[in-house]
Amino acid sequence: MIRPIKKVLVANRGEIAVRIIRTLKDMGIRSVAIFSDVDRDSLHVQIADESICIGPKNVKDSYLNKVQIINAALVTGADAIHPGFGFLSENSSFAKLCEIYEIKFIGPSSRLISLMGDKEEAKRLMKEAGLPVVEGSETVVENIELAKIICEQIGYPIIIKARSGGGGKGMRLVREGQDLESAFMSARKEAENAFGDKEVYIEKYIDDPRHIEVQILADEHGNVVHLGSRDCSIQMNHQKIIEEAPATSIRDETMNYLYDMATRAAKYVGYTNAGTIEFLVDKDGKAYFMEMNTRIQVEHPVTEMITGIDIIREQINIASMEKLAYEQKDITFTGHAIECRINAYDEDNNFMPSVGRIEGLNIPGGYGVRIDSSIYQGYMVLPFYDSMLVKLIAYGKDRKNAIDIMKRALDEFVIDGIKTNIGFNKEIMRDEVFVANEHTTSYLQGKRR
Ligand code: ADP
Repeated sequence: MIRPIKKVLVANRGEIAVRIIRTLKDMGIRSVAIFSDVDRDSLHVQIADESICIGPKNVKDSYLNKVQIINAALVTGADAIHPGFGFLSENSSFAKLCEIYEIKFIGPSSRLISLMGDKEEAKRLMKEAGLPVVEGSETVVENIELAKIICEQIGYPIIIKARSGGGGKGMRLVREGQDLESAFMSARKEAENAFGDKEVYIEKYIDDPRHIEVQILADEHGNVVHLGSRDCSIQMNHQKIIEEAPATSIRDETMNYLYDMATRAAKYVGYTNAGTIEFLVDKDGKAYFMEMNTRIQVEHPVTEMITGIDIIREQINIASMEKLAYEQKDITFTGHAIECRINAYDEDNNFMPSVGRIEGLNIPGGYGVRIDSSIYQGYMVLPFYDSMLVKLIAYGKDRKNAIDIMKRALDEFVIDGIKTNIGFNKEIMRDEVFVANEHTTSYLQGKRR
């Protein structure tokens, strides 16, 4: 039975909140924005049909305040919540609260979020489903003695990863045994500070891989399709910087195998809504499952450009209990898309966040340019939140064409009043190794060392 959604509360801010509200408008669904008391002037608040303040500037008391957000949904009569990415998007207890209050959480069930959010459990399940996983500790490694034994078994190099990790935090690469102890201790400390969970596990480190991911959509009737590949190998400190679709450096045979694995994984766990299965592919084309993200991702627009499918719309349709409107054979891929994340960064000062008023703004446009943005002239960039302001997406008939369009768009882009990483993105678009599509996840790291 289809349960139409009439009003959605968007439990986020910035670019992704704007992005979601736009699709809600396209679908004729009412939107509710939430905001902290310093975010009153933000674009997502201005374009939503309704808005409601949910607390003070610190995220713990506002954008992460589960009870307050549920209250906001009840008060405004929203029948669904879209969590976006970050904040509460992968918080299973928030999804559980939505279930209890019968507010549709636009994403998978709380049970699935909690299964896939535990990296250890996710790896175990995926292994069971038949996916290739990276060799490593089966459970968290609680002390250095155990860590030493495991590392001797799997052989160096190894990578220490936080159980509750995200955004590359709590990760340490160890090439030799003598460095293990200090890396182990510092990874645990960083994980404790960032996630309130110090537990880490250990994996074999795959040297110079590509980061390849598969977007999937699964409805609540057991149908699963994939929307192709993305390559997110341009990274700094294990964090994505530039993403593209499709992943043209990977052989068709390998890619077809990853599509099979991704849809198999989704079916095996009974996944619903939009999700992403992330893999590493080494130089010999051998693939390893890394993790599954149970939410919309920052880089989803590149997939939208090459498939012509609005993924947010699909998420809402799925949450309304609709069946997927197409089968795998109906999904086709045309052209190439690249996304640059435009952040308020000071490139000359170790990429420290930059804050202040946007005094002057020239947004690029023209053939093949898409802007997903949260800024406007006069907007005040605040120090309390993520520094990503704009996603600039270039779409061309092939990779070279997309790069040329991106170069032109970056050259036209002016943001005065704050510092940004536009210059850095321009450098990458002109980098020979990137242009030749020969980079790996460690490429930028090596260049900047
Ligand atoms: P997070 O959840 O913190 O984003 P991920 O598990 O998604 O962490 O990994 C982020 C990045 O870290 C990957 O894209 C890759 O560059 C690197 N990485 C993670 N695991 C490994 C590994 N076993 N070998 C080599 N690189 C890895």
